[in-house]
Amino acid sequence: MNSFPHAIIFDLDNTLLDRDTSVRRLLTQQWLQFFPEHNCVLKDAFIEKFLREDNNGYSNKVETYTRVLRHFEGLTAEPEFLAEHFRGEISNCVVCFESVKDVLCKLSDTYKLGMITNGTSDIQRSKINTLGLESYFDSILIGGEGVAAKPSGEIFEKSLEQLGVKASQAIMVGDHDVNDIQAASNCGIKTVWIRNKYYAQPECCDYVISNVSELFSILDR
Ligand SMILES: [Mg+2]
Repeated sequence: MNSFPHAIIFDLDNTLLDRDTSVRRLLTQQWLQFFPEHNCVLKDAFIEKFLREDNNGYSNKVETYTRVLRHFEGLTAEPEFLAEHFRGEISNCVVCFESVKDVLCKLSDTYKLGMITNGTSDIQRSKINTLGLESYFDSILIGGEGVAAKPSGEIFEKSLEQLGVKASQAIMVGDHDVNDIQAASNCGIKTVWIRNKYYAQPECCDYVISNVSELFSILDR
């Protein structure tokens, strides 16, 4: 890829952070803590139902729990209580996809690294802290923290500014068709879409990979 890029900008959830595994860890905790009298077969069904109803994290948690609890007779809990517990505990349960830290470590030797993520500010900060990712990045921006969230171009412009590069010198890596890929592309940033089950492949993406380890095959071209 010649001398391009100078900077790589990453999304967090479902790009670096393995959201499904993280949510499964938290829901297992909830099950053991709040439904100890029920069996483990039901626990797995409870977790999978939650993941199906949660729209990759974009659903309102109270509404998600309401739908999940309605589905299982005999589970007595308040959706509001479980949703609040979820928000309080998710950052303690997060894990990265395999090899993410090795990849970031290698990339940070050569490239400026940025992160742009949406979500509740203190929860996103807390997730990044639990994962120990902060030290790899030259810029971390959370939508809503003094800058409009993705897909606004404002947050991409601010990231480029903090990384000290032009749009043509950066590449955006993310899973979301609109918030990561379309939005970055609109700003003139080349894009790498992480293939996933939640979104269809965006037409405008420049490269497609299955996980961040495969970035090297693009960068070495
Ligand atoms: Mg994402």
